[in-house]
Amino acid sequence: MSSSVRKQAIAAIAAAACVENEEVKELAITEIYGQDVFSVKVMKDYLPKDTYKKLLSTIRKGVAIDASIADDVANAMKQWAISKGASHYTHWFQPLTGSTAEKHDAFVEADRDGAVIMNFSGKNLIQGEPDASSFPSGGLRATFEARGYTAWDPTSPAFIKKGRNGATLCIPTAFCSYTGEALDKKTPLLRSIQILSEQTKRLLKCFGEDSDEKIVTTLGAEQEYFLIDKRLYMCRPDLIQTGRTLFGAVPAKHQQLEDHYFGAIKPRILAFMTDVDQELWKLGIPAKTRHNEVAPAQFELAPMFEELNLAVDHNMIVMEVMRQIADSHGLVCLLHEKPFAGINGSGKHNNWSLSQAGRNLLEPGKDPHQNAIFLTTLCAIIQAVDRHADLLRVSTAHAGNDHRLGANEAPPAIISIFLGDQLTDVIEQIEKGEAKSSKAAKVMQIGVDTLPPLPMDATDRNRTSPFAFTGNKFEFRAVGSSQSCAGPNIALNTIVAESFDEIATVLEKASKKDFNKTLQVLLQGIIKKHKRIIFNGDNYSEAWLKEATKRGLYNFRKTPEALDRLMVKENVALFEKYKVLSKAEAHSRYEVFKEEYHKKLKIEGELALNMVNTMYLPTAASQMNKLADTVAKLSSIGIKAGVKELKASIEEIGAIIGKIDAAAAALKKEVAADKPAKIAEALMPLRKAVDSLELVVDDSILPLPKYSEMLFIY
Ligand code: ADP
Ligand code: MG
Repeated sequence: MSSSVRKQAIAAIAAAACVENEEVKELAITEIYGQDVFSVKVMKDYLPKDTYKKLLSTIRKGVAIDASIADDVANAMKQWAISKGASHYTHWFQPLTGSTAEKHDAFVEADRDGAVIMNFSGKNLIQGEPDASSFPSGGLRATFEARGYTAWDPTSPAFIKKGRNGATLCIPTAFCSYTGEALDKKTPLLRSIQILSEQTKRLLKCFGEDSDEKIVTTLGAEQEYFLIDKRLYMCRPDLIQTGRTLFGAVPAKHQQLEDHYFGAIKPRILAFMTDVDQELWKLGIPAKTRHNEVAPAQFELAPMFEELNLAVDHNMIVMEVMRQIADSHGLVCLLHEKPFAGINGSGKHNNWSLSQAGRNLLEPGKDPHQNAIFLTTLCAIIQAVDRHADLLRVSTAHAGNDHRLGANEAPPAIISIFLGDQLTDVIEQIEKGEAKSSKAAKVMQIGVDTLPPLPMDATDRNRTSPFAFTGNKFEFRAVGSSQSCAGPNIALNTIVAESFDEIATVLEKASKKDFNKTLQVLLQGIIKKHKRIIFNGDNYSEAWLKEATKRGLYNFRKTPEALDRLMVKENVALFEKYKVLSKAEAHSRYEVFKEEYHKKLKIEGELALNMVNTMYLPTAASQMNKLADTVAKLSSIGIKAGVKELKASIEEIGAIIGKIDAAAAALKKEVAADKPAKIAEALMPLRKAVDSLELVVDDSILPLPKYSEMLFIY
């Protein structure tokens, strides 16, 4: 019966694919861009001049918010939102669940005469009290004092979220407990941005730069995803419940011809992308690039980079908009890191940099002074990443990403830095160089020499490195496609802040005369000590695994061992020192992430058993039954030809059933024992046995869509 559902789905997709092209509408991009955002432009129109100025200095310069302007701002937001059709507002926040949260309140209030007033006060804007007792807190908030509160983040603008027949004003907020502990991802992110900014200013001051221009951490988050037809998706309980296929054999043709990457985009997908871009532009999200990715049915969207906090919020919105628009196109957007085994997974390339007044600190400079700042920043990052590679790894550790990192696919679980040949050469020169004499050939005198021109050539980039310097930014590629970028950037900001802090502490003591010499010696020391983290070769190779082990680099293959690093004394102390996470907050996060991993694996284990019992074993039985019937009939009329072969097929399927049964029994034991890492291991042999069944069973009785259908029929 269900196999006919699968066939019907395929027939319907084939028929739908024949629709005529729609007329291309002319799009007034400049008019729609940002139309659903309470942007600086809108603020200027709606706010009293004084209020506008104060709010702008908070947004642009990071000046603390003046609470007295809240009523004015709330009123303006309300007027604007109502003009956009909004009936409700919500504090929009990012609990530790991995997605965003919202609880809507109507502006509507009745007065004594029963007439309606539309109310939204400064207090409503600044603080909310979602009764959020069911969000994970890792023990931070006992349920009897469950009320957390949300606090307005004026640096990320409010926006309108449209539904089918209404709209809601969304106000980005942080989410904390009443004792001030962070219960979300935004709070520590903002703290890490703050500390990095302070330490960057200190460092720049050492170079004689004492500007009060804001330090801006920037992020461009490239987003990979899969799209499959919703009708096929609906036939796959594993995709519905876990976001990935627990079973499914790799088809004959998958990605080996490399004909999908950057290929011509199919009309149905392009229609989806066009709608996504437009929705994002309306929300002021600068969607820029769209293309086919390596795997069939895999795609990428990249926005222009923005300020980190805003870019993290925007990426959360990007994922939500993609899911919604996909649905309206009869598609499903899969954001799981590995929806299809044996096929490329999806990541999120976290492009990160630092700038001040439009000057990018990771951009090689044009004069010795700028070069010195660039090289110092670079060496600081090398030191930070080598020292705390474990924390970067932790920040990407979750059940979905375990199928990418440390599996047969890159980037590997070993964190290393790609610098490229030219820059590595410069680093080697600094390492060789002696502060006193420059006799050695090709020695870089910091503060004296200029850098050779470094190529910013895309073709030359190493695609296998988890942490690559790409001309004017670092690209952290281990981040998973479904993940919030908050965690990885919290880690990155904090470890770089520590590095800047240490370097500044040394440089602050140097006299003006000795500055260049001190810096040279300092950077030389850093390079000597931390150059083991630099690797420009193929990160996917066996040779690198061996070499990395020899160099003593961390290699945490799976989530549980990676997460344990969060609890290491030095790491807890680091977050505590820079006031990014208190001891209790770090501990609570560890508990939450561990539990999430646990629950996800348990769901996968239980569902796999369920699918085996209710779908695969019955299919195998009915196949055996069909064959046995045929054999009996043939024998009854005295036919010998083919009987032996059919009997062998029955035996083969019987043997597969035996394997499935044994693997399922083993999995069942681990599920009962509640051991997540063991469940992950036990899922593999079960999958192998089930996938071998798919290859021998009659296609017309197979209930679940195959990889060849999901990946190629849309
Ligand atoms: P790719 O890595 O695919 O070759 P690009 O180099 O074009 O792509 O850029 C990838 C992303 O890096 C884009 O989102 C881009 O906006 C972002 N990016 C560029 N410069 C910076 C920067 N200074 N800081 C952060 N992100 C940046
Ligand atoms: Mg990239």
